[in-house]
Amino acid sequence: MSSLSIRNLHVRIGEKEILRGLNLEVPKGEVHAIMGPNGSGKSTLSKAIAGHPDYTMTCGEVLLDGESVLGLDPDVRARKGLFLAFQYPMEIPGVSNANFLRAAVQARLPEGEELEATEFYARMYEKMDLLEMPRAFTARSVNEGFSGGEKKRNEILQMAMLEPRYAVLDETDSGLDIDALKVVSNGVNTLRGPGMGILLITHYQRLLDYIVPDYVHVMVGGRIVQSGGKGLALELEEKGYDFIKEGLPEEQSVA
Ligand code: ADP
Ligand code: MG
Repeated sequence: MSSLSIRNLHVRIGEKEILRGLNLEVPKGEVHAIMGPNGSGKSTLSKAIAGHPDYTMTCGEVLLDGESVLGLDPDVRARKGLFLAFQYPMEIPGVSNANFLRAAVQARLPEGEELEATEFYARMYEKMDLLEMPRAFTARSVNEGFSGGEKKRNEILQMAMLEPRYAVLDETDSGLDIDALKVVSNGVNTLRGPGMGILLITHYQRLLDYIVPDYVHVMVGGRIVQSGGKGLALELEEKGYDFIKEGLPEEQSVA
């Protein structure tokens, strides 16, 4: 089955259970959006999928095209085609953006295969043009001193270079002004296609005007509580999250 499949996922941070039986299926070629109030566990889900060591999976499965990623280190998951764009991208002083990308792309190649430098730079410049990033960003340290919007563009540049099978984008819209939002959305729309499944995490409906999802899921209290088409996002925008919370049984309504 070609999908990113999440089954009955329970995740703890320390003693606190954040994800409480989450089910989600993102088939390759589709864009699924997750919306939900702050603190509902959206970033926890993205980090658990990527294999962050602070997040303990106590139950359930995460399958990439049918293969479990449980117990695999984040870099192994990445080599298998998983990509995460962080809500809060890290700064890496002393490592240039170009060298970082080159090492990341090189690490994805089969053993013994060398990345061709000219080809790499040509491809990187092409992707930077798509994201309207000036060339000067290649020589700067990864995300150091970048504005919020520049960091988000840089995340999508990484995605464009790594060409993942499944990409999880955690609040890629936060901190973007409307022009930057359009550029980033255009980048994602160019990358989306039959070879990639995308999980788009967002708090606001606005992003979904530009990256139109195939399905929308609502997450509350560590579970998906409602799924629907793109119209569901509009309904949420209009009514807020409370109307969904109100319809939930007591034990689900707390985060
Ligand atoms: P969202 O992305 O939907 O806003 P998060 O996944 O960031 O939600 O957070 C879900 C819950 O987990 C929140 O109550 C948050 O305080 C808690 N949490 C997240 N990260 C940590 C952490 N590193 N240590 C302790 N609690 C955390
Ligand atoms: Mg978050």
